Amino acid sequence: MHREDGPDRTESGASGLSGTGRGHADAKNAPTRSGQPVGLRSLFSRFNMWRRNRYLTLRAKVVLVVTLIGAALILLAAVFTCMNFRHNVNAEARAHVNIALGVLDQAIVRTQSLGALVPVLDAVSGSPAVTAVAIGTRHGEVLAYEGYQPINRRMLAERLAAAGRKFGNDRTGGIEAAGSVQNGIQDYAAPVALPGGRGSGIAVFSIDVHLIEQSQIASAMSMMSWLFVLIIVSILTISLILHRVVVAPIEALSGFVGNKRRPPQPASGMRDEISVVTRALSDAFADSEAKEVMLQRLASTDGLTSLGNRGWFKQSLAEAIAEHREDRSLVGVLVFNLDKFKDVNDTLGHDAGDRLLQRTADVLKGCTRDGDKIARIGGDEFGLILPGLRSADEALDLSYRFIRAVGAPIRFGPHELQPSCSAGITLFPQDGRDPDTLLKNADLALSRAKTEGSGTSLLYRHELHLRAIERNSIERDLRAAIRQGDLELFYQPKVDVASQRIAGAEALVRWRHPESGYIPPDVFIPVAEKSGFIGELTKWVMNEACRQVRHWQDMGLTRVTVAVNVSAGDLRRPDLTDMIANTLVRHSVSPQYLELEVTESMVMQDVDMVIGTLRRLRSLGIGIGIDDFGTGYSSLAYLKRFPVQRLKIDRSFVSDLSSFGEGRVIPKVIIDLAHALGVKVVAEGVETAEQLHVLAELGCDEAQGYFLGRPMPCDEFEAFLQNSPVARDPQAPSHEQVAVRLPSMGGSAA
Ligand code: C2E
Ligand code: CA
Ligand code: CA
Repeated sequence: MHREDGPDRTESGASGLSGTGRGHADAKNAPTRSGQPVGLRSLFSRFNMWRRNRYLTLRAKVVLVVTLIGAALILLAAVFTCMNFRHNVNAEARAHVNIALGVLDQAIVRTQSLGALVPVLDAVSGSPAVTAVAIGTRHGEVLAYEGYQPINRRMLAERLAAAGRKFGNDRTGGIEAAGSVQNGIQDYAAPVALPGGRGSGIAVFSIDVHLIEQSQIASAMSMMSWLFVLIIVSILTISLILHRVVVAPIEALSGFVGNKRRPPQPASGMRDEISVVTRALSDAFADSEAKEVMLQRLASTDGLTSLGNRGWFKQSLAEAIAEHREDRSLVGVLVFNLDKFKDVNDTLGHDAGDRLLQRTADVLKGCTRDGDKIARIGGDEFGLILPGLRSADEALDLSYRFIRAVGAPIRFGPHELQPSCSAGITLFPQDGRDPDTLLKNADLALSRAKTEGSGTSLLYRHELHLRAIERNSIERDLRAAIRQGDLELFYQPKVDVASQRIAGAEALVRWRHPESGYIPPDVFIPVAEKSGFIGELTKWVMNEACRQVRHWQDMGLTRVTVAVNVSAGDLRRPDLTDMIANTLVRHSVSPQYLELEVTESMVMQDVDMVIGTLRRLRSLGIGIGIDDFGTGYSSLAYLKRFPVQRLKIDRSFVSDLSSFGEGRVIPKVIIDLAHALGVKVVAEGVETAEQLHVLAELGCDEAQGYFLGRPMPCDEFEAFLQNSPVARDPQAPSHEQVAVRLPSMGGSAA
């Protein structure tokens, strides 16, 4: 503790003194507990940071290791050469002495006189390494010499005597260094036989070790160069081998991991661990690639027809738009819908429906041109993209070609079916510039085409045109329609669910336009409501309905209650009650045979006024029913105050009905609520036996819908009434019902 505190104190004092004004930086670089100076510490921490973050590639690591090994080898060779240098110089010097000694020995064997030795000594001392030679007795007497200065004679005598003592009586005692190196010269002594039988003496040779050192350095340098070259070549070879065998394959693998590119197939025949890993990765990658492709295909394909789906269609449309944005050609978007496809499913089963869809897909595929795209964009809806069109007429012609092809008969077992389809066409760029708008417009054109009759194809342009004409002409033409008798009332039966007898009828107005053909009430009623003409229309309907009721009663047909739809505008008319009462009186119809259908939303506006009107009507004995119940915002409290006899469950709830599931919840609540208030419930839009069955289970009182009878012209409805078993019964009480023949519930009810 004490040691740790010490440096802290002193050094914080030092930093306090520095006073450079870099307060924060100084605080950060304050001395450490270990007492390291500021700069060193930051250097250290920077190094540590680098060490932690550093990323060396495998290639760099291999190069580093190989270079280190090479450098170590070169260093070792240098150290070894240095260590041997002295020894080599000594050995070389002795070798020179040995040669000179050999020459001298041979000369001594051949001569008897010392004088004859002088030329030999002269020759020996003339060699580059031996600078001087002397022969003497073992006691230090110099007998002959060459190369020595006369001044050195005394030194020479001492060396001879010292060598004589060293060698003793040994005549072949080898070579010994004598004295120390002076001016690069070293003396060596060796025993030698003296000529003329003088016994043995000593020879001294002066060797130029400086010269030998230089030659040794030169040869060491040359050896080092060769060694260096050898080491470099070996390192390069090893590097190349490592590169090929380890680095390159691993780099390829890491490239794959980084870029998700297919890893390279290992060279065939190579069977090391890397190639095993590469092969495994390559296989796994190919596998996942194939799966991805398959998933993409699945996500954009319709399973039944193998065509593209809606998502794919929109994507392709976006691509086509991008492609043709610059050129001036048109891109046609066609939407086809099979007419009455639901009927095929209902009557022939879903397998037949599926087959029809597949056949339609094949037919459409067969008709398309190169570059056209086709998709199934809905249950019974197909979309086509036709790029490169020159005119709208071309699109129209093509669409009729497709419609004709789809219309070819198809067999389902014993049944032969003649399918038909309708088409809506829209064009890029004139009708829209993005896929959503184009598809929406094509759908609009399609739904209009459907109302024009099956097998129709309509351009969005024409649909727009029609709509404009309608808005302007409806108002004008509607007045004329009443005068000219172009309006007609249709009647749709309501059936008592428990007894399956006719409980009444709803009067639905129809307009047969001399030019546009049939115009549905959904189109002209809103226009009549807006223009204020609705009052006149309702008056006409009321009159027509009462006239008809009177007529049927006069014919002696069972008395049925007819429901007439009234609009919000009607309810606000102060003379509505009078108008209805007058009409009933005029046709001598009892008020109990008339019912008014008002919608929820109507009765929720001006509640007090509406309640007043409805109460007056009710007090006359006219029935009141609430139409489309469940779609508005009824307050239950209001419902209690309304003089209502019937609630009509909207057909959107009926279409959701099935034997199981949540579709039953809302109808059930409505039925229970109505019954609690003492009100009867009618379900509208019943299209299947199953819906009727469920409604019966839920305790619904009456039902209305295509399954039980479509809206019919009055003579058809008359026949419908007449064909009922108890039709002609003038005595029947007013509420008596007529039994109906139900399509698939086992014929007429009891
Ligand atoms: P709404 O009062 O709800 O009439 C029922 C509509 O459902 C009728 O259409 C009828 O043809 C149709 N419908 C009946 N059964 C089925 C079925 O099983 N399935 C399906 N999908 N539809 C079925 P419509 O005749 O086109 O009448 C449409 C609307 O026009 C009526 O709806 C009503 O609001 C209005 N409307 C019709 N006639 C008159 C009228 O004389 N006066 C007034 N003010 N409105 C009328
Ligand atoms: Ca109605
Ligand atoms: Ca309705």
